[in-house]
Amino acid sequence: MEMKQVSDHCFAVLNEKNRVCDANSGLINLGGGVVIDTQSDLAHARRMIEMFGRVWTAMPQRVINTHEDADHVWGNQLFTEAEIIAHRSVPDRMKQVAEPKESQKLLHGVGRLLTRLVLKQLHPGIVAAGQQLLEDYDFDGIELVLPTTLFDARYELDLDGTEVHLIYVGPCHQVGDTIIHVPKERVVFAGDVLFRQCTPMGWTGTYDKWFQCLDLMLELGPEVIVPGHGPLCGIEGVSEMRAYLEYVRDESRTHFDAGLTSLEAAKRIEFGPYGEWKAPARLFMNVERAYREFRHEPPDAPWDTAATFDAIYKVATAKGIPVEF
Ligand SMILES: [Zn+2]
Repeated sequence: MEMKQVSDHCFAVLNEKNRVCDANSGLINLGGGVVIDTQSDLAHARRMIEMFGRVWTAMPQRVINTHEDADHVWGNQLFTEAEIIAHRSVPDRMKQVAEPKESQKLLHGVGRLLTRLVLKQLHPGIVAAGQQLLEDYDFDGIELVLPTTLFDARYELDLDGTEVHLIYVGPCHQVGDTIIHVPKERVVFAGDVLFRQCTPMGWTGTYDKWFQCLDLMLELGPEVIVPGHGPLCGIEGVSEMRAYLEYVRDESRTHFDAGLTSLEAAKRIEFGPYGEWKAPARLFMNVERAYREFRHEPPDAPWDTAATFDAIYKVATAKGIPVEF
């Protein structure tokens, strides 16, 4: 984990491994201090706070959650005095997708040999993902702390004369997707509408909505973008991810029309240049999302998490690449 200054008053904390749960955070050291996303577990959140301490001496008074996913909200409880801000949908969605108990149970189970052996027969992907997470994360002690300041389309902060715009762009990757624009500093904190040098994992939303959001980021013309996952970038990061999503949607269409399942399609679609990105087999999720749209399913159709990780595992195995999430 490292902290980088990206403009006069904006900072990013980046998790370099860039695998699942390795989410980035941000800090704006003005107007009481604003934190953007709070990491995946308490140890990571504490390290982030320590790093922020180099450029902001008090505990930040505001936290923004860019969306409801666990890896962006599980450090919320350490900001006891802070106002927590998010899109109106986020508290309810957090209860659905970020309840820590299941993940805590899973990691304990995967950590035990016998449970792991039994589980592996049923869900090799879940076991592999759990083992990977155990290398870096400990979900014990996490309690869900929900945002209480909620907004609909836009929310603005004035930090000692520097405007910060929270713009709701969901659902493209999740229901609550929000980007944070600091026009004066030409910085955007993108949350998970932007994955950089790693394969995007989208859960709820549509391709069209995601394209609209990426186009909006291009229009904002930032100099630096802090993605939800992966290293810092400029607008080239947005263009590259747009091209990836277009490629996957087009390829998925061809295989859908040929009657293949989403899993078979994901095994056949060439990674191309995107094989260099982290966890390319997460391609399955993007194929499955396209299939859902082709089948006219609602964008918030639930995911079977175990089946999803198993499918990613199967794609990696079929392609002969290391299993990585
Ligand atoms: Zn994330």
